[in-house]
Amino acid sequence: MKPQPRTGTPLSSFVHPSETTDQRVTTTGPQYRLHARWHREREQIILALRNGSSARCQRRARRIDLCCFSPEIRTAGDGRPFLVLNCCRDRLCPRCQVQRGKHVARRITGLILGFNSPRFMTLTLAHKGESLDAMMDRLYIAFRDLRKLPVWRRHVKGGVFACQVTRNTKAGEWHAHLHIIVDGVYFPQTQLKAAWLQVTGDSEIVDIRPVPDRAKIAGYVGDYVSRPNEVAGWGWAAIEEFAEAMHGRRLVHTFGSAHGVKVEDEADTREPGGGTFVCDSLSLLKWRAKNDAAAVATIMCLAAQGPEWAKVLVDKSDAWEHGGAVPSDTAVMDAVAQARVIYLRPETWVPPPPAPPAARQDILIPVAPNDRRRRRRAG
Ligand SMILES: [Zn+2]
Repeated sequence: MKPQPRTGTPLSSFVHPSETTDQRVTTTGPQYRLHARWHREREQIILALRNGSSARCQRRARRIDLCCFSPEIRTAGDGRPFLVLNCCRDRLCPRCQVQRGKHVARRITGLILGFNSPRFMTLTLAHKGESLDAMMDRLYIAFRDLRKLPVWRRHVKGGVFACQVTRNTKAGEWHAHLHIIVDGVYFPQTQLKAAWLQVTGDSEIVDIRPVPDRAKIAGYVGDYVSRPNEVAGWGWAAIEEFAEAMHGRRLVHTFGSAHGVKVEDEADTREPGGGTFVCDSLSLLKWRAKNDAAAVATIMCLAAQGPEWAKVLVDKSDAWEHGGAVPSDTAVMDAVAQARVIYLRPETWVPPPPAPPAARQDILIPVAPNDRRRRRRAG
């Protein structure tokens, strides 16, 4: 039977929150499952930003709140389905930040594989009781001055750095560190310490060590880029200060011989675009909640496509099993083609032209030759 578009309550009640009010949105199933690992941290960050005084903080709170609100199902040119999660890509969104950290680690691994003799350095700025914004300015100026010193130039060709901000919540103090992977020659710790003190005037905490495992050290730096758990524990006022002070700053960057290599590339975090829109996952899930047979079948088929699909479409309380069987490509493409017809949002769905009235011969029931003979005898 030809699939029929669904209309009625579930779809007509579907309105994206960005189209309606400025209230805190209700967490959707896909959102809850995709962000489950960072649920507490995410809530704290959203509340802190919502409570913030600037309009920019409010906007960011809203954007993070809507991250993965209703992932879209789309198909590529070959008819295969793919997911577009509609991520917020905000630096304070724990999930997006972890994804960004992975991309950064991958790019840094590629970069430092080309280093002759990598070394891992940590430079710490002494706390002065200043605002985080002022501290960040001081840190970046000190590092720029350090790179100009002859002692630095003699030992370091280039490298990549990542900035990490920590907070002593008891004392209410900010601490800023630079983690740097440098390419160069043996740099005595005492000389580095003296150089760092010279440019900062008050800081002499430095650490330098060889890098035995390049992928591992890139992983560390990727982790410094994404530390949602720490941020969430700072309290609302500190989260707001952090959000404002770090806005627009480069947190990972290259210098010297590595200058110009992109390690934090926006293109990495951009989701695949294009393709053909099939439907919103929320539309599909709302029909599944009504036990719509076609929705259940489509979800079972798509959920077997990978862990991300399962997170978007299947709730743990759902008792169904697909027995581990992976549906065939044809079955998946059929399910998607069917979903495209029946679950597309009604406001965007263009109904097909009405079918021509059935011709008379179509509705006559064909009679078998034996039946005709029987009828003649009976008549
Ligand atoms: Zn996000």
